[in-house]
Amino acid sequence: MYIVLLGPPGSGKGTQGQILAKRFGLNHLSTGDLFRAILGDEDHPLYPKVQVVKEGKLVSDDVVNLVVEDALNKEEYESGVIFDGYPRTVAQAEALDDMLSSRDRKVDMVIDFDVTEEVLLDRLLGRRVCSSCKGVFHKKQGYDKCPKCGGKLITRDDDNEETIKERFEEYKNKTAPLQQYYKSGDSKYICIMVDDVDKTPDDIQKQIIDKI
Ligand SMILES: [Zn+2]
Repeated sequence: MYIVLLGPPGSGKGTQGQILAKRFGLNHLSTGDLFRAILGDEDHPLYPKVQVVKEGKLVSDDVVNLVVEDALNKEEYESGVIFDGYPRTVAQAEALDDMLSSRDRKVDMVIDFDVTEEVLLDRLLGRRVCSSCKGVFHKKQGYDKCPKCGGKLITRDDDNEETIKERFEEYKNKTAPLQQYYKSGDSKYICIMVDDVDKTPDDIQKQIIDKI
């Protein structure tokens, strides 16, 4: 099974993706992780192409597609994948369709996390990140230091109301064509409403399982 997750940062799609991956025995494929792995391996054939990430430049569709295709050639991804953070554009979605169809596979399901601005602000403004292990927590949990490693918990500079609202608008504008692409395609399309700040990851997971 091949599943695509849509949703802005803070929608909880990463957490849900990991739970779903375990539940269904799929591999959670995050493009962020793939880029980091290649950047740490100078001998990787794509190493020169991904240097743009270090320079803080936007990565072109072509490069992202190459990185995903490279991953799909690995045996570990043959049994199915949950795509997290990919595709982000219609061009990437079309490329993914081609990659999968050449392997006699297809995107079976798209799970779209429809998060309200209210929930997003609550989650991101309350987000505390461990400065050493990068663990992510919420101020509601009441930790004064990282419960995993004892590191200092900090608020990221870009987790402020103005930036979050801007990112959310940008996300909505960019993703609208992608949603349309998948709604009119033949993958199963599921929309999960994340509209209540008190919903836990377990609640959301139940909502997903009910709809699958
Ligand atoms: Zn830590």
